[in-house]
Amino acid sequence: MLHSTTPRVRAAARPITWSPSITLVPTRFCFNTCGYCSFRRPPDPAGPLADALSDSAAQALLEARPEAAEVLLLSGEVAPQSPQRRAWFQRLLALCRLAWSQGRLPHTNAGPLSLAEMAALGRLNASMGLMLEGLGPAYDALHRHAPSKRLAVRLGQLDQAGRLGIPFTTGLLLGVGESHADRRAALELLAQLQRRWGHLQEVILQPFRPDGAAAVLLTAAEQADLLVTIAEARAILPPEVHLQLPPNLWPLEALPDALAAGIDDLGGIDSSDVINRAYPQPTPARLAAVLERAGFSLVPRLCVHPAWRHWLPPPIQRQAHRAEARLLASSSSGPRSPWP
Ligand code: SF4
Repeated sequence: MLHSTTPRVRAAARPITWSPSITLVPTRFCFNTCGYCSFRRPPDPAGPLADALSDSAAQALLEARPEAAEVLLLSGEVAPQSPQRRAWFQRLLALCRLAWSQGRLPHTNAGPLSLAEMAALGRLNASMGLMLEGLGPAYDALHRHAPSKRLAVRLGQLDQAGRLGIPFTTGLLLGVGESHADRRAALELLAQLQRRWGHLQEVILQPFRPDGAAAVLLTAAEQADLLVTIAEARAILPPEVHLQLPPNLWPLEALPDALAAGIDDLGGIDSSDVINRAYPQPTPARLAAVLERAGFSLVPRLCVHPAWRHWLPPPIQRQAHRAEARLLASSSSGPRSPWP
């Protein structure tokens, strides 16, 4: 029984994680042509890697964002049989090494990789990623000219990452004409992969948003439709898999609805979104305020989630340990560790 002078015990706020990150784009050239893509650039007459990000340009970007522990490499793709493939892949490795030399943790998402390529990146990356995106006729139509996006290729990559023991991020692109049955079938496939390998640390539930000069916010009906899928994802996927929502693609004041439905992670957040350029990122302070009002707390994390950290090679574990110390020291949320 509480004594009358005992302070009221407040329920602990549910933690919602995010990763301070910076995105480097090795190249926007891509041999695929996805029906919704505003990221891709067509091949440059000077060569497909004419726009490749140099070390000096990457260095300047990294210096401008010293608090970012995660360096997300998000690249257009060079065809596996292309004579440019090797140079492209060497650029990825060089950018990972640059990030590494600054005490950061690379997280690469560069499309399908050979076993040897994925293994090489796995020795430098704390985690890696590849969206499943989805399955069914709507995706088939959008990916008619995107050989990398065939379902069998994507599933093969997720399986390969599991065999290599790489902590992995995948996700679905939602709202391109797919049915709820398509979404559930895709989630079931991810659940099967997770039960087999256990490497899926997070699944992104990404609302498709049109590109343009200004953001087009999700309507109330679209939010309600996606909330159903968030709840289904939570029910279908094993409980250790984090559910992630990019916070700039959801109306900020309605974000607590998505968290209540099952989202527990807001992903890597840079100062801007290189894909959805019309959708500004909320600042961590603004996010924290919205979450706090709704009974959640915003907690920083590294790109590798705590439960997968022991999967990493010892040098990456040591780098993660140092990066975590800096992250917590610079965090405005104080000395609360996101690690167990
Ligand atoms: S694979 Fe990615 S970068 Fe290439 S066209 Fe498709 S969405 Fe765009």
